[in-house]
Amino acid sequence: MNLSSKIEGQLPAELVKFMRVAGEVAHSQGESLYLVGGVVRDLLLGQTNLDLDLVVEGNAINLAQQLIPVTQGKITTHPRFNTAKLQWNKWSVDLATARSETYVKPGALPSVKPSSIDSDLFRRDFTINAMAIHLNPSRYGELIDRYGGKDDLEHKLIRVLHEKSFTDDATRILRGLRYEQRLDFQLEPATLQLLKRDIPMLDTISGDRIRHELELILREKYPEKVLRRGEELNVLQRLHPGLKGNRWLAEKFEQARQLYSPTLPPLGLYLTLLAYPLTNEENELLISRLRLPKTLAQTLRDAISIKAKLQPLANPELNPSNIYHLLHGYSSLAITTNSLAGDSPVARQRLQLFVDKLRYIKPALTGDDLKRMGIPPGPRIKEILHLLHEAKLDGKVASKQNEEDLVRGWLADNMTT
Ligand code: ATP
Ligand code: MG
Repeated sequence: MNLSSKIEGQLPAELVKFMRVAGEVAHSQGESLYLVGGVVRDLLLGQTNLDLDLVVEGNAINLAQQLIPVTQGKITTHPRFNTAKLQWNKWSVDLATARSETYVKPGALPSVKPSSIDSDLFRRDFTINAMAIHLNPSRYGELIDRYGGKDDLEHKLIRVLHEKSFTDDATRILRGLRYEQRLDFQLEPATLQLLKRDIPMLDTISGDRIRHELELILREKYPEKVLRRGEELNVLQRLHPGLKGNRWLAEKFEQARQLYSPTLPPLGLYLTLLAYPLTNEENELLISRLRLPKTLAQTLRDAISIKAKLQPLANPELNPSNIYHLLHGYSSLAITTNSLAGDSPVARQRLQLFVDKLRYIKPALTGDDLKRMGIPPGPRIKEILHLLHEAKLDGKVASKQNEEDLVRGWLADNMTT
């Protein structure tokens, strides 16, 4: 099967030209060059994908260096894996040296050695991701499909290449669910059995790698579908027993998208919603399992601490300064999480009021203004600024003049008492 017309039809002319030239350069030095992975899958599916992954039977860094004049862009190299990235204009192309992998220990990174395209494809996660397209001039556009990827695409199946696949690298469990739900495919029955068998192998995967896969899930158009499937298969529970991919979550994710539309909600918001049902203790477990970076970890902690404030926040007697004091200091993403996830409509309204308005309100007078008004430097200044802040939050002063009058009033009172 030849895919050159699909390439021409679906990829931008600039990338097509680049691939042709790259194929010629590789050929001229006796190497073979291939387009591989997701982009081949998406070409066959007729879906847009501009992430080009190239594999050369030869030396990727060497080839990338020769292609610099063609792109006139930037090159980044990783000598340890013999891979390179070329970036120019809005394009980015990865070049790797064809390699085979051996897994010495489940879950650990494999040891790799240069090899043929066939072994390079064999180390991949699923048959639909294990196809290549030849780019050398004499074979340009030829599909290389050793493992039945095209058949599986046609039958909408996610299939591993061998029985030890999930044991070698259990992140593939998460990847499998992601492709299944994104493409509306099914895990092929034997693959599903292997997946279920190997769920405990998720314990062998480092926090960083699990977090990375979770991020990829949360970048999907409908992450909740992947999470729901993850719960159904007990995959989610293996990452953390308290995680749920239920209808509640789906609803909240949808509301998060509406809130941020037309852009996408930040991943942190999805993550805090996912963690929302957890207790403080359970949340700490999640933070350490995923090795979350400090700020994100704090956002999760904040989101869960605010849950305890929802009841006081629903009190009808509260004025704006009370609301301010209940919420200031928390990350705004954590507050937004609660405004989506909290049960009480009144509390939710107040959280929104804080995010939209209260957190920006500051008195017009500064410490310097107060000194100019004759207040001596010292703790009194801070105290007055605090009182002014409250007055402003509660709408008791509207202008700088109002604030000055109020301060003068306080000073006069003080002198008489
Ligand atoms: P996506 O559309 O999600 O980006 P992709 O297929 O491009 O899909 P990448 O994560 O960019 O996925 O990886 C590129 C290719 O590398 C995949 O198509 C797959 O062949 C291979 N790959 C990635 N991760 C793994 C893994 N954990 N095990 C085996 N092969 C992998
Ligand atoms: Mg990709």
